[in-house]
Amino acid sequence: MPDPNHAAFVRAQGVIPGGVNSPVRAYRSVGGDPRFLASARGPYVTDVAGREYVDLVCSWGPALLGHAHPEVVAAVQEAAARGLSFGAPTLGEVELAEEVRRRVPAAERVRLVSTGTEATMTAVRLARGVTGRPLVVKFAGCYHGHVDGLLAEAGSGVATLAMPGSAGVTEASAAETLVLPYNDLAAVEAAFAQHGSQIAAVITEAAPANMGVVPPAEGFNEGLRRITSAHGALLILDEVLTGFRVGPSGWWGLENAALRSQGSEGYAPDLFTFGKVIGGGMPVAALGGPATVMNHLAPLGPVYQAGTLSGNPVAVASGLTTLRLADDGVYARVDHVASVLAAAVGEALSAEGVEHRVQRAGSLFSVFFGPLAASRGVRDYAQAQAQETHRYTALFHSMLESGVNLPPSVFEAWFVSAAHDDAAVDRILEALPAAAKAAAAA
Ligand code: PMP
Repeated sequence: MPDPNHAAFVRAQGVIPGGVNSPVRAYRSVGGDPRFLASARGPYVTDVAGREYVDLVCSWGPALLGHAHPEVVAAVQEAAARGLSFGAPTLGEVELAEEVRRRVPAAERVRLVSTGTEATMTAVRLARGVTGRPLVVKFAGCYHGHVDGLLAEAGSGVATLAMPGSAGVTEASAAETLVLPYNDLAAVEAAFAQHGSQIAAVITEAAPANMGVVPPAEGFNEGLRRITSAHGALLILDEVLTGFRVGPSGWWGLENAALRSQGSEGYAPDLFTFGKVIGGGMPVAALGGPATVMNHLAPLGPVYQAGTLSGNPVAVASGLTTLRLADDGVYARVDHVASVLAAAVGEALSAEGVEHRVQRAGSLFSVFFGPLAASRGVRDYAQAQAQETHRYTALFHSMLESGVNLPPSVFEAWFVSAAHDDAAVDRILEALPAAAKAAAAA
């Protein structure tokens, strides 16, 4: 009997381009048949062959509490029974927006959308609408969804497939994006010196995790705030991935707590974008910021944005319940699991003499391979691309064989959840020595 995953993949490729509805799922860079999943619970996923894996993808971020948390599932079922979609405002949306503002007070007004892509697309349009300027600055290796103007030198699947950007993006649209090296404030100063009066916004991942995990150098995000303010441009902090995952108030919350403990006032961006955890596994994303900026959105202002399913009541029930359950204990557990795993991966690779560097941003971490990464660390996309990616392929397949589901790309973060209990962590730890051997032999 053919493997059910293989049969599913062949069948899928007959009707869906590449057999997947989002490119990284296709295992193009690691090779082999993607696992078609049938169910998931806590830290585990089960494929169509009935095989269970400890999951370190966590739906690419949303599953902070683990899969199918009983209270989240119950809230979704109750909401569904009351009606799937109304196309009218609901109190649940207000409660979710209030919960976001409670955690991130600078998000005085919050607009709910369905995907991170919509959130960043709207944030960029809003920045252009508010400033009347055309240009946007983004950083190489940062991914902000598949918005035309933000695909140039993007991370995530664009990096995995080694694509420079995307066909179908007009030159006019590409010309309105300035792509700069990450962690390089001098490059930002230079771009503003040349084009300052034309730049509507700088968009940055709060802590990049789509070229592998490359945390901002100390003072980088604050530096962006200083430069954008000086030139009348907006700062868009993309917390789609980090928001409500690395801490109750996202990366901004961690950074600002650290700044305040050093006696600084901290900083706030003009716009935040959120996604992933905010929906707890259902399609919810958001943008937020001061009322003076957000009120430029229709119906109050001239910047148009809308959505038939925006603030969908079933999705909102999932997000609201997830955020309400994401207390300090959840973040402490996720941090602990990340620490244990990041250390264990490093030890296993070192024991086999594999040159590497594990990088962390809060509970997000990933591994970079090769002597360059090992000696100097990875601060930008060029350095991330210079690593020995084939070692990850070997590590990935060995872990999969041992029943651990890693992200099928070296350019993605490893995601853990509060449901990763000691039994699940032990299964990962047991799988690591053989995987490190495989990486060494590759
Ligand atoms: N911004 C960041 C930082 C992301 O990581 C992602 C998705 N990985 C997006 C935006 C796009 O979100 P979505 O896939 O929901 O469109």
